Amino acid sequence: MKIFKFGGASVKDANAVKNVGKVIQQFDDKLIIVISAMGKTTNALEKLVNAYYFKKEGVEAILEEIKAFHYSIINELFDNEKHQIFQDIHNTFVEIEWEIEEEPVRSYDYVYDQIVSVGELLSTKIISAYLNEVNIKNQWLDIREVIQTDNSYRNANINWKLTEQLALELFTKNKTLSTSTYIVTQGFIGSSSENFTTTIGREGSDFTAAILAYCLNAESVTIWKDVPGMLNADPKWFDDTQQLNHISYHEAVELAYYGATVIHPKTIKPLQNKKIPLLVKSFLNPTEQGTRIDENTKEDARIPSFIFKMNQVLISISAKDYSFIVEDNLSEIFSKLSAHKITVNMMQNSAISFSICIDFNPFTTYQFIEELQKEYQVLYNENLELVTIRHYDDATLKRVTENKKILVEQKSRNTARLVMKDR
Ligand code: ASP
Repeated sequence: MKIFKFGGASVKDANAVKNVGKVIQQFDDKLIIVISAMGKTTNALEKLVNAYYFKKEGVEAILEEIKAFHYSIINELFDNEKHQIFQDIHNTFVEIEWEIEEEPVRSYDYVYDQIVSVGELLSTKIISAYLNEVNIKNQWLDIREVIQTDNSYRNANINWKLTEQLALELFTKNKTLSTSTYIVTQGFIGSSSENFTTTIGREGSDFTAAILAYCLNAESVTIWKDVPGMLNADPKWFDDTQQLNHISYHEAVELAYYGATVIHPKTIKPLQNKKIPLLVKSFLNPTEQGTRIDENTKEDARIPSFIFKMNQVLISISAKDYSFIVEDNLSEIFSKLSAHKITVNMMQNSAISFSICIDFNPFTTYQFIEELQKEYQVLYNENLELVTIRHYDDATLKRVTENKKILVEQKSRNTARLVMKDR
């Protein structure tokens, strides 16, 4: 059994859906196909939740747009207007309509999960029905029967034991699921013990694929992307990117941690724990090699990788009376960071100051700085970039620092990190 994952870009329109059929037909293995919401649907549903919850204008208009987008795809995929899918999609949208009919009474995060999760239900219903229509016989599965979580809405934690038990039970005992070659299901969503829908964090479908692979001891996971594999830099910043053909789980975790966005950071651990290889391949050229991630570390240092984080703020914190910044102060600073849900991308300390580099956020950054200013002297620099180079050398350092002023530089054996701004 193999697990495939198709993200939003790979199912963004009718042609893309047709292409999913072409990709999976090249395999005769048993496949569990995990699919995200179509195109930018999750963003659109987030907008809908915000408009509804905060009583802004345009709730209906946003919903109409989401509907029109999905109906235009099914109109293109299905000639028969009486096909059952039209009714199924209508019924799925009714779930949102019911939700937004009443005033919101429960928390924002709860409401978010009930509405945003519909994106994955829509996409998988459409794709499963289309594949069956063109004779790629498959079974649709509501993944909420398998993925069990706590009720931390929007960022739910997996109940591994229960999920594993349900997965094994369902895939061995359920006749349809155990005999179907292709199973189509949703990424990103799960179910709480009270049977409410939960979501596991943005871009979480990769993680869903890894959870299923872990629980079912799959042979491999393949993430199908619009890039040929994992590259050594985001093509947004570099023209001459190189593909990483083979890296280790460890290297992949490091790259994801520093901000490489190709795979969700939580994906690697379950796969590493069961030594299940992860493949990143192009849905446009499915026979090409792509990137393989497994235990083998041999090729990790072959090509340097670059990770850029823009719009960074460097904050330097020191005591007002020139005393040392000691553990008590650090503990206080970290609890403030945690209270504002701010992630520290890099930190450095000296005798009298402590510096952190964080993503700029128009809501929390200034609030956090103001709070600190009550007790500390705080200096900060905005509009910076943080560059991480894995397996750096003089040439790569020179390349990224050209015409830049370096504010902080940190080097370990394998990793160089630089906070810089334009000269
Ligand atoms: N649809 C969700 C998102 O856009 C989950 C995913 O695609 O991985 O974040």
